[in-house]
Amino acid sequence: MTTRAPHRAAGRVEVHGVHKSFGTLEVLRDVDLTFEPGTVTVVLGPSGSGKSTLLRAINHLEKVDAGFVTVDGDLVGYRRCRGRRGDVLQELKEREILGQRTRIGFVFQGFNLFPHLTALENVVEAPLSAQRRSRAEVEAEARELLARVGLADKADARPRQLSGGQQQRVAIARALALRPRVLLFDEPTSALDPELVGEVLEVIKDVASTGTTLVVVTHEIGFAREVADSVVFMDDGVVVEQGPPAQVLDHPRHERTRAFLDRVL
Ligand code: ADP
Ligand code: MG
Repeated sequence: MTTRAPHRAAGRVEVHGVHKSFGTLEVLRDVDLTFEPGTVTVVLGPSGSGKSTLLRAINHLEKVDAGFVTVDGDLVGYRRCRGRRGDVLQELKEREILGQRTRIGFVFQGFNLFPHLTALENVVEAPLSAQRRSRAEVEAEARELLARVGLADKADARPRQLSGGQQQRVAIARALALRPRVLLFDEPTSALDPELVGEVLEVIKDVASTGTTLVVVTHEIGFAREVADSVVFMDDGVVVEQGPPAQVLDHPRHERTRAFLDRVL
Protein backbone atom coordinates (compact mmCIF):
# COMPACT_ATOMS: atom_id res chain seq x y z
CA MET A 1 0.00 0.00 0.00
CA THR A 2 1.19 3.52 -0.73
CA THR A 3 1.02 6.03 2.06
CA ARG A 4 0.38 9.71 1.82
CA ALA A 5 1.67 12.09 4.43
CA PRO A 6 -1.02 13.93 6.37
CA HIS A 7 -1.51 17.05 4.29
CA ARG A 8 -2.62 19.44 6.99
CA ALA A 9 -3.63 19.68 10.58
CA ALA A 10 -7.18 20.47 9.58
CA GLY A 11 -10.52 18.80 9.96
CA ARG A 12 -11.76 20.18 13.25
CA VAL A 13 -15.52 19.68 13.47
CA GLU A 14 -17.66 21.42 16.04
CA VAL A 15 -21.32 20.66 16.64
CA HIS A 16 -22.94 23.36 18.75
CA GLY A 17 -26.33 23.08 20.39
CA VAL A 18 -27.86 21.12 17.54
CA HIS A 19 -31.56 20.32 17.63
CA LYS A 20 -33.46 18.41 15.00
CA SER A 21 -37.06 17.23 14.93
CA PHE A 22 -39.11 15.33 12.39
CA GLY A 23 -42.63 16.53 13.07
CA THR A 24 -43.12 16.08 16.79
CA LEU A 25 -40.28 13.58 17.11
CA GLU A 26 -37.16 15.19 18.60
CA VAL A 27 -34.26 13.29 17.09
CA LEU A 28 -31.33 15.46 18.22
CA ARG A 29 -31.60 17.40 21.44
CA ASP A 30 -28.95 19.97 22.15
CA VAL A 31 -26.01 18.01 20.80
CA ASP A 32 -22.58 19.51 21.48
CA LEU A 33 -19.54 17.65 20.19
CA THR A 34 -16.05 18.47 19.02
CA PHE A 35 -14.05 16.21 16.74
CA GLU A 36 -10.38 17.14 16.85
CA PRO A 37 -8.27 17.14 13.67
CA GLY A 38 -6.94 13.74 12.75
CA THR A 39 -8.80 11.86 15.45
CA VAL A 40 -11.09 8.86 15.16
CA THR A 41 -14.41 9.00 16.99
CA VAL A 42 -16.73 6.02 17.18
CA VAL A 43 -20.40 6.85 17.74
CA LEU A 44 -22.43 4.14 19.45
CA GLY A 45 -26.07 4.01 20.34
CA PRO A 46 -29.26 2.05 19.90
CA SER A 47 -31.20 2.11 16.66
CA GLY A 48 -33.22 5.32 16.42
CA SER A 49 -30.98 7.27 18.80
CA GLY A 50 -30.13 9.88 16.14
CA LYS A 51 -26.69 8.72 14.95
CA SER A 52 -27.42 8.91 11.22
CA THR A 53 -29.22 12.21 11.64
CA LEU A 54 -26.16 13.58 13.43
CA LEU A 55 -23.84 12.54 10.58
CA ARG A 56 -26.28 13.92 8.01
CA ALA A 57 -26.49 17.18 9.94
CA ILE A 58 -22.70 17.50 9.94
CA ASN A 59 -22.54 17.69 6.16
CA HIS A 60 -25.89 19.48 5.80
CA LEU A 61 -27.72 16.59 4.18
CA GLU A 62 -30.16 17.35 6.99
CA LYS A 63 -31.01 20.92 7.98
CA VAL A 64 -30.96 21.43 11.72
CA ASP A 65 -33.67 23.37 13.57
CA ALA A 66 -31.27 25.07 15.96
CA GLY A 67 -27.56 25.19 16.59
CA PHE A 68 -24.85 24.91 13.96
CA VAL A 69 -21.88 22.91 12.73
CA THR A 70 -18.47 24.26 11.78
CA VAL A 71 -15.55 22.64 9.97
CA ASP A 72 -12.29 24.46 10.63
CA GLY A 73 -14.31 27.43 11.80
CA ASP A 74 -16.52 27.67 8.70
CA LEU A 75 -20.24 27.24 9.18
CA VAL A 76 -21.59 24.26 7.27
CA GLY A 77 -24.55 25.14 5.05
CA TYR A 78 -24.81 28.77 6.11
CA ARG A 79 -23.10 32.11 6.11
CA ARG A 80 -23.38 34.64 8.87
CA CYS A 81 -24.92 37.93 7.77
CA ARG A 82 -25.30 41.14 9.66
CA GLY A 83 -29.02 41.66 10.22
CA ARG A 84 -30.80 44.63 11.79
CA ARG A 85 -31.17 42.71 15.03
CA GLY A 86 -27.76 41.10 15.12
CA ASP A 87 -26.24 38.32 13.04
CA VAL A 88 -28.49 35.99 11.10
CA LEU A 89 -27.66 32.77 9.29
CA GLN A 90 -28.39 32.62 5.59
CA GLU A 91 -28.37 29.24 3.88
CA LEU A 92 -25.72 28.78 1.21
CA LYS A 93 -26.63 28.10 -2.38
CA GLU A 94 -26.73 24.44 -3.45
CA ARG A 95 -23.49 24.87 -5.40
CA GLU A 96 -21.72 26.28 -2.35
CA ILE A 97 -23.02 23.45 -0.19
CA LEU A 98 -21.73 20.91 -2.69
CA GLY A 99 -18.37 22.67 -2.51
CA GLN A 100 -18.33 22.31 1.26
CA ARG A 101 -19.25 18.65 1.00
CA THR A 102 -16.05 17.99 -0.89
CA ARG A 103 -14.33 18.60 2.45
CA ILE A 104 -16.66 16.26 4.30
CA GLY A 105 -16.77 12.78 2.81
CA PHE A 106 -19.57 10.34 3.57
CA VAL A 107 -19.54 6.55 3.40
CA PHE A 108 -22.96 4.93 3.61
CA GLN A 109 -24.07 1.59 4.93
CA GLY A 110 -25.36 0.63 1.48
CA PHE A 111 -22.21 1.74 -0.48
CA ASN A 112 -24.29 3.86 -2.94
CA LEU A 113 -21.98 3.28 -5.88
CA PHE A 114 -23.18 4.16 -9.38
CA PRO A 115 -24.09 0.69 -10.72
CA HIS A 116 -23.42 1.52 -14.38
CA LEU A 117 -19.91 2.87 -13.73
CA THR A 118 -16.71 0.89 -13.15
CA ALA A 119 -14.85 1.12 -9.87
CA LEU A 120 -12.41 3.62 -11.39
CA GLU A 121 -15.22 5.69 -12.90
CA ASN A 122 -16.99 5.76 -9.54
CA VAL A 123 -13.84 7.08 -7.89
CA VAL A 124 -13.05 9.79 -10.47
CA GLU A 125 -16.61 11.05 -10.95
CA ALA A 126 -16.84 13.52 -8.06
CA PRO A 127 -13.35 15.04 -8.25
CA LEU A 128 -13.77 15.55 -12.00
CA SER A 129 -17.15 17.22 -11.67
CA ALA A 130 -16.69 19.07 -8.37
CA GLN A 131 -13.01 19.99 -8.37
CA ARG A 132 -11.37 21.50 -11.39
CA ARG A 133 -8.60 18.95 -11.65
CA SER A 134 -7.21 17.31 -14.75
CA ARG A 135 -8.46 13.86 -15.71
CA ALA A 136 -4.90 12.53 -15.85
CA GLU A 137 -4.14 13.64 -12.30
CA VAL A 138 -7.49 12.47 -10.92
CA GLU A 139 -7.21 9.08 -12.61
CA ALA A 140 -3.68 8.54 -11.39
CA GLU A 141 -4.75 9.33 -7.86
CA ALA A 142 -7.85 7.13 -8.20
CA ARG A 143 -5.68 4.17 -9.21
CA GLU A 144 -3.47 4.84 -6.22
CA LEU A 145 -6.52 4.93 -3.97
CA LEU A 146 -7.90 1.70 -5.41
CA ALA A 147 -4.50 0.12 -4.73
CA ARG A 148 -4.59 1.54 -1.23
CA VAL A 149 -7.91 -0.21 -0.52
CA GLY A 150 -6.55 -3.42 -2.05
CA LEU A 151 -8.43 -3.23 -5.36
CA ALA A 152 -5.77 -2.33 -7.89
CA ASP A 153 -6.97 -5.17 -10.12
CA LYS A 154 -10.66 -4.19 -9.93
CA ALA A 155 -10.50 -0.77 -11.58
CA ASP A 156 -12.61 -1.91 -14.52
CA ALA A 157 -15.12 -3.99 -12.56
CA ARG A 158 -18.68 -2.80 -12.08
CA PRO A 159 -20.26 -2.88 -8.63
CA ARG A 160 -22.32 -6.02 -9.32
CA GLN A 161 -19.11 -7.89 -10.11
CA LEU A 162 -17.73 -7.04 -6.67
CA SER A 163 -18.44 -8.43 -3.21
CA GLY A 164 -20.06 -6.17 -0.63
CA GLY A 165 -16.71 -5.68 1.07
CA GLN A 166 -15.07 -4.74 -2.22
CA GLN A 167 -17.90 -2.34 -3.06
CA GLN A 168 -17.53 -0.65 0.29
CA ARG A 169 -13.78 -0.34 -0.27
CA VAL A 170 -14.48 1.34 -3.62
CA ALA A 171 -16.87 3.68 -1.79
CA ILE A 172 -14.11 4.56 0.66
CA ALA A 173 -11.66 5.22 -2.20
CA ARG A 174 -14.34 7.38 -3.82
CA ALA A 175 -14.77 9.40 -0.63
CA LEU A 176 -10.99 9.83 -0.30
CA ALA A 177 -10.66 10.99 -3.91
CA LEU A 178 -12.09 14.38 -2.90
CA ARG A 179 -9.27 14.72 -0.36
CA PRO A 180 -11.70 15.41 2.46
CA ARG A 181 -10.64 16.78 5.82
CA VAL A 182 -13.40 14.86 7.51
CA LEU A 183 -14.82 11.47 6.66
CA LEU A 184 -18.14 10.30 8.08
CA PHE A 185 -18.99 6.58 8.08
CA ASP A 186 -22.56 5.49 8.77
CA GLU A 187 -22.49 1.83 9.81
CA PRO A 188 -20.03 0.99 7.01
CA THR A 189 -19.99 -2.73 7.76
CA SER A 190 -23.61 -3.35 8.77
CA ALA A 191 -24.70 -4.51 5.33
CA LEU A 192 -21.81 -6.95 4.95
CA ASP A 193 -21.57 -10.66 5.49
CA PRO A 194 -19.58 -11.23 8.68
CA GLU A 195 -16.52 -12.57 6.87
CA LEU A 196 -16.23 -9.31 4.88
CA VAL A 197 -16.36 -6.95 7.85
CA GLY A 198 -12.67 -7.26 8.73
CA GLU A 199 -11.33 -6.17 5.35
CA VAL A 200 -13.38 -2.97 5.44
CA LEU A 201 -12.39 -2.18 9.03
CA GLU A 202 -8.74 -2.68 8.05
CA VAL A 203 -9.13 -0.10 5.30
CA ILE A 204 -10.79 2.36 7.69
CA LYS A 205 -7.94 1.80 10.10
CA ASP A 206 -5.48 2.58 7.34
CA VAL A 207 -7.39 5.77 6.47
CA ALA A 208 -7.25 6.74 10.14
CA SER A 209 -3.46 6.77 9.92
CA THR A 210 -3.50 9.49 7.24
CA GLY A 211 -4.62 12.31 9.51
CA THR A 212 -8.16 12.66 8.19
CA THR A 213 -10.71 13.25 10.95
CA LEU A 214 -12.98 10.21 11.11
CA VAL A 215 -16.41 9.89 12.67
CA VAL A 216 -17.57 6.29 12.50
CA VAL A 217 -21.01 5.08 13.51
CA THR A 218 -20.56 1.38 14.14
CA HIS A 219 -21.44 -1.41 16.53
CA GLU A 220 -17.97 -2.92 16.10
CA ILE A 221 -16.77 -2.56 19.66
CA GLY A 222 -13.43 -4.24 18.91
CA PHE A 223 -12.73 -1.62 16.26
CA ALA A 224 -13.67 1.15 18.71
CA ARG A 225 -11.34 -0.26 21.30
CA GLU A 226 -8.44 -0.60 18.90
CA VAL A 227 -8.75 2.47 16.69
CA ALA A 228 -10.89 5.15 18.34
CA ASP A 229 -9.43 8.10 20.20
CA SER A 230 -12.86 8.86 21.53
CA VAL A 231 -16.17 7.04 21.89
CA VAL A 232 -19.51 8.84 21.96
CA PHE A 233 -22.59 7.08 23.29
CA MET A 234 -25.93 8.50 22.12
CA ASP A 235 -29.39 7.57 23.27
CA ASP A 236 -32.69 9.16 22.44
CA GLY A 237 -31.16 12.18 20.70
CA VAL A 238 -28.67 13.15 23.38
CA VAL A 239 -24.99 12.53 23.92
CA VAL A 240 -25.06 10.45 27.08
CA GLU A 241 -21.31 10.23 27.46
CA GLN A 242 -18.04 10.64 25.63
CA GLY A 243 -14.49 9.70 26.47
CA PRO A 244 -11.56 7.45 25.58
CA PRO A 245 -12.62 3.90 24.68
CA ALA A 246 -11.18 2.42 27.86
CA GLN A 247 -13.38 4.70 29.90
CA VAL A 248 -16.67 4.55 27.98
CA LEU A 249 -16.46 0.86 27.08
CA ASP A 250 -14.99 -0.51 30.29
CA HIS A 251 -16.11 2.00 32.92
CA PRO A 252 -19.24 3.66 31.59
CA ARG A 253 -20.59 6.32 33.89
CA HIS A 254 -24.20 5.99 32.87
CA GLU A 255 -26.61 3.15 33.34
CA ARG A 256 -27.93 3.62 29.79
CA THR A 257 -24.43 3.10 28.35
CA ARG A 258 -23.92 0.04 30.51
CA ALA A 259 -27.25 -1.47 29.42
CA PHE A 260 -26.43 -0.86 25.75
CA LEU A 261 -22.96 -2.40 26.03
CA ASP A 262 -24.40 -5.42 27.79
CA ARG A 263 -26.63 -5.95 24.77
CA VAL A 264 -23.97 -5.59 22.06
CA LEU A 265 -20.93 -7.16 23.72
P1 ADP B 1 -30.01 5.92 14.15
O1 ADP B 1 -29.11 6.18 13.01
O2 ADP B 1 -29.37 6.13 15.48
O3 ADP B 1 -30.67 4.57 14.08
P2 ADP B 1 -31.64 7.97 12.96
O4 ADP B 1 -30.87 9.23 13.06
O5 ADP B 1 -31.66 7.29 11.64
O6 ADP B 1 -31.19 6.98 14.11
O7 ADP B 1 -33.15 8.23 13.33
C1 ADP B 1 -33.55 8.80 14.55
C2 ADP B 1 -35.06 8.88 14.57
O8 ADP B 1 -35.50 9.80 13.59
C3 ADP B 1 -35.75 7.56 14.26
O9 ADP B 1 -36.88 7.46 15.07
C4 ADP B 1 -36.13 7.70 12.81
O10 ADP B 1 -37.26 6.94 12.52
C5 ADP B 1 -36.40 9.18 12.69
N1 ADP B 1 -36.13 9.72 11.36
C6 ADP B 1 -34.94 9.72 10.72
N2 ADP B 1 -35.03 10.32 9.52
C7 ADP B 1 -36.32 10.72 9.39
C8 ADP B 1 -37.04 11.41 8.37
N3 ADP B 1 -36.44 11.82 7.25
N4 ADP B 1 -38.36 11.64 8.59
C9 ADP B 1 -38.96 11.25 9.72
N5 ADP B 1 -38.33 10.59 10.73
C10 ADP B 1 -37.03 10.34 10.56
MG1 MG C 1 -28.50 4.98 11.44
